[in-house]
Amino acid sequence: MHANAKDFKQNAHRALNDAFLQGAIRKATQRFVNERTHAVAERPDFEALRERGRAIKQEALDRLPDLLQEFEDNVISSGGQVHWARDAEEAQQIIVRIARNAGVKTIVKSKSMTTEEIGLNPVLEREGFVPVETDLGEYILQLDDDYPSHIIAPAVHKTKEDVANIFERRLHVKNPPEAGIPGLNAIARKALRGNFLKAEMGLTGANLACAETGTIVLVENEGNICLTTALPRIHVALVGIEKVVPRFDDLSTMLMLLPRSATGQRLGSYTSFITGIAKNGEEGPEQFHVVLLDNGRSRIYADEHLRGSLRCIRCGACLNACPVYNRTGGHAYGWVYPGPIGAVITPQYLGLAEAPELPYASSLCGACYEVCPVKIEIPHMLLELRGQVAQGTAQRAPVKRPFLEALSFRAFAFAAQRPALWRLLSGIGRRVLRSKASGATIPSVPLPVLQDWTRDRDLPTPPADGFLEQWRTRRGNKGDDA
Ligand code: SF4
Repeated sequence: MHANAKDFKQNAHRALNDAFLQGAIRKATQRFVNERTHAVAERPDFEALRERGRAIKQEALDRLPDLLQEFEDNVISSGGQVHWARDAEEAQQIIVRIARNAGVKTIVKSKSMTTEEIGLNPVLEREGFVPVETDLGEYILQLDDDYPSHIIAPAVHKTKEDVANIFERRLHVKNPPEAGIPGLNAIARKALRGNFLKAEMGLTGANLACAETGTIVLVENEGNICLTTALPRIHVALVGIEKVVPRFDDLSTMLMLLPRSATGQRLGSYTSFITGIAKNGEEGPEQFHVVLLDNGRSRIYADEHLRGSLRCIRCGACLNACPVYNRTGGHAYGWVYPGPIGAVITPQYLGLAEAPELPYASSLCGACYEVCPVKIEIPHMLLELRGQVAQGTAQRAPVKRPFLEALSFRAFAFAAQRPALWRLLSGIGRRVLRSKASGATIPSVPLPVLQDWTRDRDLPTPPADGFLEQWRTRRGNKGDDA
């Protein structure tokens, strides 16, 4: 997909004016939030579980090179093949080569944000293959030439009427609106089933990769992943290097956290553990390829402040909890990964200069951290990225802030370091603002720097006494112990 993460503000304004989008996003995320709350309440030990999940993923990061080597050895010893891809282009080439060598035409795909990340479908089409998305949401988006707006519910921005129109237009189904949701599901199922049967290759991501056994784990609700990995004679899994966990025993902890956080389920409807190829007359693929993808992850790994973002298991809980995502939806973030985790990782993948607004797409309320099953400190990371933006220490080109904003912060820093000047200016500012206020708030302050803020929010009227005056008064009242 074409990245337009630079335009977050503009994208967000467009989304805020889209009444349908507002309703659809809020309805979907509220449902996920409610389901998650219910599922978490069933486990009084959920906090301990979160801590275990954090520790497993942190250990995996601490031992990442060794674990990846162990994973590779175990995939190979169970009959699979491992390919290392430095970046998106290399991963695309590896997958095309595997498909070409095996005389593949049709490729069935399960939902995979990693294949979205490397922009795989257009490349496969250009090379003459027929990639077919088999997750219902992804299938709808593929038919409509659209892209996901949520990590686990990719077509959350579409109504059932939209879907009916897409099916009518692309699948030539007569009067699909009358079919209702079950009918629409049936139309998609019928259209997809034939592809499973004729596809020579199944392409998936992986939710987890176990170093100890060389197993990949895939969680789903629709059954399409089972078919994608079992029916075609070749299975290719594109796996980000951060998906590895050390031990088979760790999988149970991660599988207690992932579906609860994602959809509020105790378990996904189907969980596939895939180790190697079919042997001794078993059913299943003759070839199993794992493509281990870096594509910027090593760069993130090298940053001690941001490395923790690689613990992400892509459950989407932080999106559902985020007041910003709840209003803007996913497309506003301008790349594959939306929401709070997208605001952290997109600037790292694309470079801060390509996504300078994203670290600011947050109220820093901390809701994302509260729900994250692996306790990623997203607000701290956003602050770190804001610091990098302000200081121009972005990994690529330094980011230019608007002149007025840069000047305001320089003036603030100058005054804040000089107590007498600060007292003088804050006293004048309080008086000016109080003289303009008629009630408890100042609805619209005609000052250039504050206008953006007060356009959408009320600015509380400042108190007559500032902090220092109040401090002195209280200290005086309470004596030296205050
Ligand atoms: S950051 Fe945490 S809550 Fe957000 S998608 Fe990743 S694991 Fe889930």
